[in-house]
Amino acid sequence: MAAEEDFELVEVLIPDISKGQMLVRNAYMSVDPYMRGRMGERETYIAPFELGKPLEGGAVGQVIESRAGKFQEGDHVLSNMGWREFFVTDGSGLVQIDPKIAPEQNYLGVLGMPGFTAYVGLLDIGKPRERDTIVVSAAAGAVGSLVCQIAKIKGCRVVGSTGSDEKVAWLLEEAGLDAAFNHRTTEDLIDSIRQHCPEGIDIYFDNVGGTHLEAAIELMNNHGRVVLCGMISIYNATRPPRAPRNLISAIPKRLILQGFIIHDHNNRLPQFYEDMGRWIKEGRVIGKETIVQGIENAPKAFLGLFTGENFGKMLVKL
Ligand code: NDP
Repeated sequence: MAAEEDFELVEVLIPDISKGQMLVRNAYMSVDPYMRGRMGERETYIAPFELGKPLEGGAVGQVIESRAGKFQEGDHVLSNMGWREFFVTDGSGLVQIDPKIAPEQNYLGVLGMPGFTAYVGLLDIGKPRERDTIVVSAAAGAVGSLVCQIAKIKGCRVVGSTGSDEKVAWLLEEAGLDAAFNHRTTEDLIDSIRQHCPEGIDIYFDNVGGTHLEAAIELMNNHGRVVLCGMISIYNATRPPRAPRNLISAIPKRLILQGFIIHDHNNRLPQFYEDMGRWIKEGRVIGKETIVQGIENAPKAFLGLFTGENFGKMLVKL
């Protein structure tokens, strides 16, 4: 587990901008579980952070000075230049966003990478059918809360696992789940899930891995789909995980277990914006957010993802 002392807040002078450049002031930055994977030397799909250099991550902000860069003063932009309050850029990799369509921080949550992950992971990989039973772990998180709500729209019976009674209540009362339970107070994960899934599980959307994945495999129906989205319970592990021990069951049950990385699916973005935009407008999807104030609290916000401090998308307002 990383600690707040591993982070350093540094003040530097903002350089003058040259021709073709712009100065952007960030309004919100995202903290995400995948960032933990960049804090080590393990080979992953994305290069590790470098010690002593600023971290990166999703951010939304506004151009406050432009010398004929790609965008004009006043434009709102989405970037990967989080973990800082200002940055100078020529605009490469930036995407213009419209805060009149949705509050700008939504482009880091329900209309951003987590929302897109929920959409593609559930629809393209989980392939839900009406009346399927789906179990979602980290169900009140950024991705999980949206998977649950999209699955309800698709006519599934949705069961969520989450880490507090308050989150359980929100999932049942606001997000419209059929059942939810608190994994931190449950004695036996398999019993808890079985109780809420009398007809077994057709889709398991995994955000957690470890014992959650093992319990789900135990209760999967034949031909079930396991969406391997994330395994946050083992991101800090220093030894190979002890679970799942029952992967062999995937053979007689003819399960499909499929991992995915959202960046491979950008061809689905136009349909995502259209569907998610409509669902939000119709009040069928709520983009829940937890907002922490100030860059000095960004490490705390990030670490809070591993102890369940967040409800929906964890954001830092700068
Ligand atoms: P969340 O908003 O869901 O935050 C993480 C949540 O995980 C916490 O709030 C906590 O919720 C839960 N959690 C933390 N530690 C544990 C643990 N040991 N056991 C059980 N639950 C735990 O994060 P995101 O929605 O951003 O991400 C969810 C998952 O999706 C992550 O695993 C992430 O890596 C993955 N992901 C994968 C992508 C891909 O392309 N494949 C893209 C984006 C995300 P609670 O209080 O309910 O326990």
